[in-house]
Amino acid sequence: MATKEALVCGAGGFIGGHLVKRLKSEGFWVRGVDIKFNEHAETLADDFVIGDLRDQQFVSKIIDHRFDEVYQLAADMGGAGYIFTGENDANVMHNSALINLNVLDACHKRDIKRVFYSSSACVYPVHNQLDPDNPNCTESSAYPANPDSEYGWEKLFSERLYLAYNRNHGMECRIARYHNIFGPEGSWEGGKEKAPAALCRKIAAAAPGGQIQVWGDGKQTRSFLFIDECIEGTVRLLRSDFEGPVNIGSEEMISINHLAQMISEISGKDIVIENIPGPEGVRGRNSDNRLIRQMLGWAPELPLHQGISKTYAWIDSQLKRKHNLPDSAGCVAT
Ligand code: NAD
Repeated sequence: MATKEALVCGAGGFIGGHLVKRLKSEGFWVRGVDIKFNEHAETLADDFVIGDLRDQQFVSKIIDHRFDEVYQLAADMGGAGYIFTGENDANVMHNSALINLNVLDACHKRDIKRVFYSSSACVYPVHNQLDPDNPNCTESSAYPANPDSEYGWEKLFSERLYLAYNRNHGMECRIARYHNIFGPEGSWEGGKEKAPAALCRKIAAAAPGGQIQVWGDGKQTRSFLFIDECIEGTVRLLRSDFEGPVNIGSEEMISINHLAQMISEISGKDIVIENIPGPEGVRGRNSDNRLIRQMLGWAPELPLHQGISKTYAWIDSQLKRKHNLPDSAGCVAT
């Protein structure tokens, strides 16, 4: 049987890097594309092309034949500090929309059927996420639309774009709405990192009994999905008969202060939390996994504590490596 071929757009990013590993472990030939290499791990892609997916000519060059599977993960994105200040709105919308327009159309021209698109829980309306204890993130609640950021509006537009190509051009695109994915080999400093990584870094850097600052009152709730389960849901959805959009997230909702406490316990440092004003997004958000369970017969199950423990250990080792400090085994990281 011929080797299957996959294209991963955004392969230099967090989820894309892990997805390449998964596809390689399944025996795929993989082409990765990104504007940069992954900072945290060597790519396993057979062919890694550096280039700008906003450039239509570049996109038609890298989508040069009929891949069996295409995963479109490239986007201009970041954590709350990047998306909610408003300073990056024009870039976020322009850059991500162009990438999606280019990639999808090039796939259509090569008669590629299966394209995965990574949308986001940020599409859900603000008015359904005001109560931190009872957010509504059922897939059908996305309309009437009222996302809390331009990032969410672009995702909603692009979801509709992929669905339109399914209807008008006989494509079989699959759309997931990811909810806060975290894990090793993701951004952990520099402003694009998300809450779990930022809290792990702050606590890893703090002295025992020390203090860390947490944006907002800390009562805002979220759920966080470990990267391995995100990848599992992604490949399952792409190969399924269900086009989505469907949530890929965890249903284990937790407040940001409780998350900080969990990480403090994992670290063994007994950290004090100080809540300070800062960008925080909606009050409450949780995945609703009824649809994915029904359509794929699968949903994420890993307890948050397990994923956070692995992530804390990785970020702690990165920090020690950076400052040339001994790791927990007493060795200086190289
Ligand atoms: P990431 O930022 O690590 O990866 C995105 C990659 O896209 C980056 O490596 C970036 O360099 C690349 N990229 C951006 N502009 C590009 C361009 N013009 N040309 C080529 N490459 C370009 O993000 P991630 O966490 O891996 O997320 C992957 C996808 O999942 C994104 O579409 C994101 O919106 C979506 N998503 C992620 C989360 C999450 O919690 N991580 C949640 C919801 C949705």
